[in-house]
Amino acid sequence: MKSIVIVGGGVAGTITANYLAMRLREEIREKRVSVTIVSDREKQLYEPGLLYLAFNRVEENDILKDIRYLLDPQLELKIARATRIDTEKSRVELDTGEALDYDYLVIATGSRVVPEEMPGLVEGGHWFYNLDGAKRLRDELAAFRKGKVVISVMGIPHKCPVAPIEVTFMLDEFFKIHGVRKEVELLYTYPINRIFTMETVSELVQQMFEERNIGYKTFFNPVEIDPEKKVIVTLEGEEEPYDLLISIPPHRGSQVIIDSGLGDKEGWVPTDRFTLKAEGYENVYVVGDATNLPVSKAGSVAHFEAEVVAENIAAEIKGLPPTARYFGKAMCFIETGFGEATYIWFDYETPPRLVKPNKFIHWMKLAYNRMFWLTARGML
Ligand SMILES: Cc1cc2nc3c(=O)[nH]c(=O)nc-3n(C[C@H](O)[C@H](O)[C@H](O)COP(=O)(O)OP(=O)(O)OC[C@H]3O[C@@H](n4cnc5c(N)ncnc54)[C@H](O)[C@@H]3O)c2cc1C
Repeated sequence: MKSIVIVGGGVAGTITANYLAMRLREEIREKRVSVTIVSDREKQLYEPGLLYLAFNRVEENDILKDIRYLLDPQLELKIARATRIDTEKSRVELDTGEALDYDYLVIATGSRVVPEEMPGLVEGGHWFYNLDGAKRLRDELAAFRKGKVVISVMGIPHKCPVAPIEVTFMLDEFFKIHGVRKEVELLYTYPINRIFTMETVSELVQQMFEERNIGYKTFFNPVEIDPEKKVIVTLEGEEEPYDLLISIPPHRGSQVIIDSGLGDKEGWVPTDRFTLKAEGYENVYVVGDATNLPVSKAGSVAHFEAEVVAENIAAEIKGLPPTARYFGKAMCFIETGFGEATYIWFDYETPPRLVKPNKFIHWMKLAYNRMFWLTARGML
């Protein structure tokens, strides 16, 4: 029997698992193949929903779903933390003491925020990039009516490159709705020489920031937060005061990648950009945020990558040539407030082009938010 082990029960892990179940239905039923997914959480979090939770527009239960509900019944789920991946023995060790041998391994361990790695940030700042952070920010925003809000991106790469822009536009509208926009100064900061990595997006967003009286600073790399003085200290020697700091904290790959010596120093797995195999391994694939690829850390990327990985593993098991390739395809909606949105499509060769924000795209985004669980189940 061939065994496939997937580590990580986020969107990348569940879509890959469900696609494998579809492509290998007969083989699994006849017990020629097993697919096991290892997740250290019982529930999957729909992370794009955190943006809306911070503004009290969705509740916690709307964006959490039991992973069992998302998986095809033929798949095996183990709720456990993988503590070590031993590629020489083709084995995954779990914190339960159990070990899983594999013929094919899919690493889908995602990314995590590490606010504790920025001195003073835990004491002096906020973020919405995990559930606890988004809930704390929601409560803070509900009471905030006057002062300077700094939205600061504290390193690249981070999940959903457009989310900091979205939250800035949503803050602008949020304070307008509450009649206090004139009392609130908004400042957005970004680490490189423009306000977004992609030039075409950067130009339009910069223009929209200017129209909405949103300030911005580039080449802004925080190294420390002083929670007493409420000041951000930067590598460039600036000291930026704030009343409310909304950060995009530094990101890292999963601890198991670092502990198993499979990643670079930040924990991203070196990955072939077309085959999605971990570099140097024939039977180890990487999907979603866990890769070191120069593509967005986005759910849509995880989705498109999962198709390629599932197709190639299924082909190899069936004795067919594994010819599917990933060409960097990504798609992101961009909320420009609470009533309009735009979107971008791009791949390794094609830069994104923005369409003018409109209501229709915003409604599509809201509809997609509701339908997301069908995507996680591999049905959309
Ligand atoms: C605020 C916000 C807004 C976003 N908006 C969008 C958007 O609009 N569109 C979009 O496409 N993307 C968006 N994203 C990005 C998207 O959510 C992520 O790119 C996506 O969740 C990545 O999926 P993943 O499965 O690779 O990783 P994750 O979702 O991080 O899942 C990895 C899973 O693996 C588990 N895991 C890690 N290590 C282990 C281990 N050792 N053992 C067992 N389990 C382990 C983790 O606990 C986690 O459950 C947004 C993200 C945020 C934070």
